[in-house]
Amino acid sequence: TCLLLQLEDITGRKTAEQRLTRSALHDSLTDLPNRAMLLDRTGRALARLARRPNDGLMAMLFCDLDGFKAVNDTHGHAAGDELLVEVARRLSQVMRPTDTVARLGGDEFVVLCENLPTTAEATRIAVRVEQAISRPVPWRGQPLTVTASVGIAYGSATVSAQELVRNADTAMYQAKTLGKNRHEVFDEDLRARSTSRVRVENDLRTALRTANVEVHYQPIVELPTRRVTGVEALARLRLPDGTLAMPAEFIPVAEDTGLIVELGAHVLRSACQQLAAWREHAPDLHLAVNLSARQAARADLCDVVQAALADAGLPAHALALELTESVLLESARSTLGKLGELRESGVQIGIDDFGTGYASLRYLRDLPVTFLKVDRSFVAGMTHNHHDAVIVQTVTRLAFDLGLGCIVEGVETEAQLGRILDTGAHAQGYLFGRPVPATDFERQMSWATP
Ligand code: C2E
Ligand code: CA
Ligand code: CA
Repeated sequence: TCLLLQLEDITGRKTAEQRLTRSALHDSLTDLPNRAMLLDRTGRALARLARRPNDGLMAMLFCDLDGFKAVNDTHGHAAGDELLVEVARRLSQVMRPTDTVARLGGDEFVVLCENLPTTAEATRIAVRVEQAISRPVPWRGQPLTVTASVGIAYGSATVSAQELVRNADTAMYQAKTLGKNRHEVFDEDLRARSTSRVRVENDLRTALRTANVEVHYQPIVELPTRRVTGVEALARLRLPDGTLAMPAEFIPVAEDTGLIVELGAHVLRSACQQLAAWREHAPDLHLAVNLSARQAARADLCDVVQAALADAGLPAHALALELTESVLLESARSTLGKLGELRESGVQIGIDDFGTGYASLRYLRDLPVTFLKVDRSFVAGMTHNHHDAVIVQTVTRLAFDLGLGCIVEGVETEAQLGRILDTGAHAQGYLFGRPVPATDFERQMSWATP
């Protein structure tokens, strides 16, 4: 009996210890292995691969849910948690018992497979994963639906566990970029591109720290007079080598890393200061600033905007915020509430690139917007494509009939101008002026000439 008691004591202690280790190595919501345990198992698998390369391939699948945030926003966190638990269960079901299914946090899952005969097998697994995740999950009578973007990376003798996770993550990111609900494989090409992403991100951080974000200004004119009534602030990044990076290069990275919040606030603040100085000469001049989804979603949006206006001594109606259709449509109710509040205070709210997203007419009635910006792709086609011309005409009419302002973007030629001259819309484009630094903009303005 004594021995038995001792044994019981030991097992009792053991389970407590096991429980402790378990919580350090498992995700508490889904009970799947967590990042620490995944890295440990990956390290061991890589060692086995190095010892016995003929046993087959080792693949890591990085899975990120598409549309998870929308589920959380629409149905609440309880629904989000339920969905994650179900995804964990399904992933465990479709994998072999020898595979590792881990949750890295949020809506990120990783599957580790060893001894695969071919790369085609890894692709088949990715498809199984996508199918398992995209089946709707029942929740209080309403099905919750998400899809998965999957990145595949293969283990090798030269890669570490951490690198392998990073490579699979990079491939997953590529799958997202290429339209989500799909899988991509990490290869040399992606490696090259991901290092350039890292460089842009580093440049961006440095630029923000050293105030190397510059703001250029492009005129917005009234028609048919061509009088400048406003300016759009457009961000530029001064790189360490002195060259200027354009938004297409750095805005996606900034959005992805969250740096856009800081960048956007910087652009807003400095453009407001600049406008205040210009309004000494042109008291009616107004300012348009682009707002990204991340900025719009933040709880302090109204405070940030009001503070920028107050610090510059500007009235609210001097400022317009431009958001794209997709930002507006994907916004949570709380975001729309904040935009509504800003509009009530006098700030103009506009839909940028109008016509390229999927806004329906009903949204024009429901969203807190005061003006539309017709996308420049329609303007570009206007003089040789009848449909484009009709679209521009119709959208400007629609805007006015709904009591909204309208700006036609990307006007480059007199011929294009001719087509919109009598629509009553405002216009913006290279024909009237390119985006330029503040000092150049001043020189172009009549009040600056003696
Ligand atoms: P956007 O808001 O649609 O800005 C207008 C873009 O069209 C600018 O490009 C401008 O240079 C270009 N553009 C203006 N007129 C013409 C024209 O006649 N022809 C042609 N082909 N293009 C014209 P840019 O400066 O490269 O900015 C690109 C986009 O980057 C912007 O598109 C905006 O979505 C984003 N962006 C720029 N600055 C910021 C910022 O501070 N914050 C955020 N969130 N986004 C920004
Ligand atoms: Ca814009
Ligand atoms: Ca635009």
